[in-house]
Amino acid sequence: MSPVLAADIGGTNLRLAVVNEAGEVVNEQRIEAQLSRADASSPAEAEAQLMQTLISAIHPFAASHEITAIGIGFPGFFDHQNQLLRSSPNIPMLANFPLAAHLSEALNLPVAVENDALCAAIGEQRFGAGQGCDNLLHITLGTGIGGGLILNNAPYGGERGMAMEFGHLCVEPGGRTCGCGNQGCVEAYASATAISRRYQEASGEALSTKAIYQLAQQGDESAKEIIQSAGHYLGMAIAESVKLLDITTISLSGGLCGAWSLLQPAILETLNRQLIPPLQGKIDIRRSQLDDRSGILGAATIARPAREETTGQA
Ligand SMILES: [Zn+2]
Repeated sequence: MSPVLAADIGGTNLRLAVVNEAGEVVNEQRIEAQLSRADASSPAEAEAQLMQTLISAIHPFAASHEITAIGIGFPGFFDHQNQLLRSSPNIPMLANFPLAAHLSEALNLPVAVENDALCAAIGEQRFGAGQGCDNLLHITLGTGIGGGLILNNAPYGGERGMAMEFGHLCVEPGGRTCGCGNQGCVEAYASATAISRRYQEASGEALSTKAIYQLAQQGDESAKEIIQSAGHYLGMAIAESVKLLDITTISLSGGLCGAWSLLQPAILETLNRQLIPPLQGKIDIRRSQLDDRSGILGAATIARPAREETTGQA
C-alpha cells in the first residue's frame, strides 16, 4: 500500500510527513505559516485564507510523493457527523466550515481531519506510550495544554468535538486568567507560556521552559518550585479526569516533559492525594516516547485511502 501524507498544523508552522504503514516517517518537512491571521474581515475571507495556506503547503509535497490519502491534525473542534469544522481558537472568524471536503476537492485526494490533541492521542495509542491500551488519556504540554481521549479503543471527540478540553479544567477557582477567558484553568499554570510567565514574575527574567528546567537542576529554587507547582496542578486535573472516566493510563507529551524528573513526582504526589482510595497508586503516568511525533503519526492513522474508505462505509 502506498504511504499517506500526514500534517500537524500549529499556530505558526505546518509539519508535513510522508508516513508508511509501519508508522515510519519517510520524509518530513516543516513549513512556517501563520495560521492565525487577524486581517480577515469576514468568515468567507478567513476560509479562503485558511484554504490558501493549507493548499500551498500541502500541494507541492503531495504532488512529489505517491500518496493515496491525507490526514490532518488541526487546532479546532470537529463535528464528524456533519463533516464540519465547528470552530477554531486560532481563527475565531471560522464557523461550521467543511474543511475536509473542501481540501479533498482541491487536492483531489481523500482528506480526513481531526482535532490536533485527539490526533496526538491516536498516535500514542497506535505507536507510542498507549500501545495495547483500550483507554487512554493523552495530554499535550505546549504553549497551551490539550487533551485527547481514547475510549473503548476509539477516539472520543464528544458531541461537538470538544471533549477532553483538559487544559481548561479548573484547578484554582478565581485564579490566574486563562486564554479562554476563564480563571484558574490548568493551562494558566502548567503550559509553557504560563511557566515562562510565572518565572518572569518571580525573577524578572523571560526564559523558555527548557532554560527554567536547567536552572532548577542547578538549584534555582523558584525555577524548581514553578515546575513542581505545574506538576501539582496537572496532578489535580488528572485526578478529576480519572474520577470521571476510570482510566488507568495517562500519557504526556510536549516540551515540559523534558523536566520529567521534577514533573512526574509532583504529578503523582498530588494525583494520589486527590484520588478516591481504591484508585490511589493505580494510575500509570507515562512520558511519550515519540518525541514530538504523536500528532503527525495520529494524522497518518486517520488518513484513509479511497478504497479503504468505501469499504469502511459499506
Ligand atoms: Zn482556560
